[in-house]
Amino acid sequence: MRYISTRGQAPALNFEEAMLTGLARDGGLYLPETISHLSAAEIVEFEGLPYEEVAFRVMRPFVGDTFTDEEFRGIIARTYEGFAVSARAPLKQLAPGHFLLELFHGPTLAFKDFAMQLIGQMFEFSLKRSGKRVCIVGATSGDTGSAAIEAFRGLEAVDVFILYPHGRVSEVQRRQMSTPEEANVHALAVDGHFDDCQALVKDMFNDFEFRDAVSLAGVNSINWARVLAQVVYYFTSAVSLGAPHRKVSFTVPTGNFGDIFAGYIARTMGLPIERLVVATNQNDILHRCLSSGEYRPDGVIPSISPSMDIQVSSNFERALFEAYGRDGKAVAQLMDELKAGVFTVSQGAREALSEVYDSARVDEDETRGEIARQMRDAAELLCPHTAIGTKVADTQRVPGTPMITLATAHPAKFPDAVEEATGLRPPLPPHMADLYERSERITRVGNDLAEIENLIKKRTGN
Ligand SMILES: *Cc1c(COP(=O)(O)O)cnc(C)c1O
Repeated sequence: MRYISTRGQAPALNFEEAMLTGLARDGGLYLPETISHLSAAEIVEFEGLPYEEVAFRVMRPFVGDTFTDEEFRGIIARTYEGFAVSARAPLKQLAPGHFLLELFHGPTLAFKDFAMQLIGQMFEFSLKRSGKRVCIVGATSGDTGSAAIEAFRGLEAVDVFILYPHGRVSEVQRRQMSTPEEANVHALAVDGHFDDCQALVKDMFNDFEFRDAVSLAGVNSINWARVLAQVVYYFTSAVSLGAPHRKVSFTVPTGNFGDIFAGYIARTMGLPIERLVVATNQNDILHRCLSSGEYRPDGVIPSISPSMDIQVSSNFERALFEAYGRDGKAVAQLMDELKAGVFTVSQGAREALSEVYDSARVDEDETRGEIARQMRDAAELLCPHTAIGTKVADTQRVPGTPMITLATAHPAKFPDAVEEATGLRPPLPPHMADLYERSERITRVGNDLAEIENLIKKRTGN
């Protein structure tokens, strides 16, 4: 299986190379040259299988010869053993026809663990085999960073640097990044927004001298292996509601478009998904773009759903690549236009997008109102991101097609917002109950590429 860049210029890579590299050298994102297909008969067999076995069957074709079957099964087994529930991604009924896919039972209480734990295991395997060392640099609006640090802490062949916007992540998120004691973990608080952090990481990848000097590796949601890991729970949840004989729809609280794009891959592989609904907060560039065709970033307004406070949605580039019939040149052109502030999606590509995706936005008051309503009606405490999903799902549901909303984080990760809406403060699960007592280790840095590159070189001995 070969991987090609969404901008058409970088060399094709195999799975292992695409995983270790993250961002392509032409600035694009990697996608498989062909998306493998599962027959209805193969999907039917998923019914009743352990999560790990479905994960193996769904991901196996994309991994090529990077791992043997036995190695890959071992990697998957280790990936999910730290999850609190054996179903891994349990599905719960919220209301008639409306289901909640709980993706927050991993070690850092957000869906990011599904992919990050897998990447941690795959990196470790791969680097041990080659004797190489890498430096992982990632930007986070909160959850990716904590998931990455949890997945890579203490691994021998890896240093991990996480850039997060100072003062703009929740206390639980910050503490999950700042309290691990392992020397290979570095939490950097940047004076800026998430988009600044993301731009800094992109600039580091485009600084080839630096990139090669420290052996930079990316684990942001642009990493194909992360998208791949997220494809699995679309299958397990849809099958438990009757797929492939019955269609289902998904509503996905969306920021960087990684999670929902995994749904698109599942659909392309043959899972009968009717609609994929993008739910955004007040930072609604995706909703505006999908409704008007115009992609125009404007400033980020901090919200109570910080993991979706994004105006440059990296993985949307993959959706564009697909909508433009895999025309890398056209995508590169759009990204050039974006540097000047805005691009407009062509009519044909807009139609292609609207065959798959719907979208809606939810503002701050509506989010709080929805958290309160679900507590009242369903006795469920939802995190603010998930509440944005359930609110949108309710407006988009059609009779006869079950709607699954992805519950992307545990409410205890955002206790202030939940308490404000409901008067109830969700407690942390037992394994992290002492989080508030552990001591923190943070480095403050400016929004300055040279400063951060120097710090990384120094700490990695380059
Ligand atoms: C990352 C995250 C999202 C957004 O996911 P994307 O893949 O970036 O679209 C939504 N909710 C939570 C809790 C998250 O951590």
